Amino acid sequence: MDNIASVIRILIVEDNAQNVASISDAFSGQNYHIESIDNGDKAPALVTKFKPDLIFVNPWIKGLSGSGLCAALRVLELEPRPAIILISEEKDKQEIDEEILTFLDGGADDIICLPLNKTDLYARARAQLNFCKCYQDISIDNQNLKSILEITNAIGDTLDTSEILDIIVHHVARVLDAYRCSIVMVGEGDKGYVLVSNDAPEVKDLQIDLCRYPEIREVIRTRDPVSLDDIKTHPLMQEVGDLIKDLDYTSIMVVPVTFKEHTLGTLFLRARRKNRGFTAKEIEFCQIVANASYHAFKNAKLFEQVIDEKEDLRHLAITDQLTALFNHSFFYIRLEQEFERAVRYDSPLSLILMDIDDFKRINDTYGHRIGDMVLRETSAVIKSSVRKIDVVARYGGEEIAVLLPQTSLSGALGEAERIRLNIESQRFSEDLDEVITVSLGVSTYSFEHTKRPEDLVNFADKALYEAKDVGKNCVKVVIKKDPE
Ligand code: GH3
Ligand code: MG
Ligand code: MG
Repeated sequence: MDNIASVIRILIVEDNAQNVASISDAFSGQNYHIESIDNGDKAPALVTKFKPDLIFVNPWIKGLSGSGLCAALRVLELEPRPAIILISEEKDKQEIDEEILTFLDGGADDIICLPLNKTDLYARARAQLNFCKCYQDISIDNQNLKSILEITNAIGDTLDTSEILDIIVHHVARVLDAYRCSIVMVGEGDKGYVLVSNDAPEVKDLQIDLCRYPEIREVIRTRDPVSLDDIKTHPLMQEVGDLIKDLDYTSIMVVPVTFKEHTLGTLFLRARRKNRGFTAKEIEFCQIVANASYHAFKNAKLFEQVIDEKEDLRHLAITDQLTALFNHSFFYIRLEQEFERAVRYDSPLSLILMDIDDFKRINDTYGHRIGDMVLRETSAVIKSSVRKIDVVARYGGEEIAVLLPQTSLSGALGEAERIRLNIESQRFSEDLDEVITVSLGVSTYSFEHTKRPEDLVNFADKALYEAKDVGKNCVKVVIKKDPE
């Protein structure tokens, strides 16, 4: 009966010592673990503790007996369900036959008659155990199906890759009672990355050296699952014997996450299990989950890619390529938004327009390439001189606009002066022996003077002209007062 279970546990509930001996004799050998009890009252407690695969019951035993005893054993609802075989004293008496029918109704599965015959006993037991094994397989398949459904439903609810991986490792660890379940991504060479681990939420993309994980390398090589009952004695783990000698888990399972010829990574489980490792059903379950996770992983990755590409396109559409500042059209979109907000909430809003002084001469003297560099560097200095919420845009050729939400005129004048000083003190390159300066015009939203967004630009532009007129490298303003 080796194909049924590695060790079969048999309980004999019988007060006739000779019958106990006959049954024990029929099942001698290491594959059987036999216990007996001579009183029906004690049977339910022993069954709960011993968890037999097969119970022989004398229904006329002292203490709890008959259909009451059968029902008491069944009510325990043990998983896996044990088989109950009755030992019948006398076969032919009609009265006993009827009684036996009630025992069968109480939960017994079969009946064997005295005198006990070794071959008969063995054959009946085998039939019942085979039946139990089928029942157990169906029940495991059912549970696995339920878990796979749960996992796929949960995965279907999100497109976030790390959330998907998190769901997988938590479900698998729970269903298989593993103390750790992680997903290891295969990288270049001997590099691996722990993407997620159920017991360490902080672990994300932790790099590991696959030289120390022969079990993972084996799975990558063969693309077949590896399940080791006892890692400390398994030949595969010999090369890392020193590294694993103090680990407190015994069994591991590694399942490849593959699609066609690609091995993306592995599902890696560790368990502390006495006397047994992972079963074939458990390996099959993990392989199904791993296969499902590949598709989910791939879909989520694709979705992330689309979002990233969309973001890249949006970024391209609003960015000036030379200076990496916002472009003219995006400046106007933001100007309208901020102007509307300022009007609605009566909040301050200011604008700085600036223009590089004598830029034509820079170009003419040093060439366009240096001119471009000056424009780029000036933009960088401006960007680093302002606040995060300020909108810096290339307004025209060498004209740059800074929109300052929530900023009054005095604040804007301060910021403009800071920009002016920072540019003036900037040394651009060894090839350029010049001090670069800018002229700046400042305007601010006021209920009285600026009715439309363009007014804000026009006033700043006027101020900029004034700055150029009075000698450049300075800050000017046209509307000189913050609104009351
Ligand atoms: P002002 O002090 O009055 O502003 O004098 P200016 O020389 O800066 O002004 P002008 O308008 O006469 O010249 C601006 C120059 O900026 C002309 C144009 O070729 C140059 N320019 C505009 N865009 C770029 C660019 O992207 N790269 C380079 N290198 N030059 C540019
Ligand atoms: Mg200029
Ligand atoms: Mg100009």
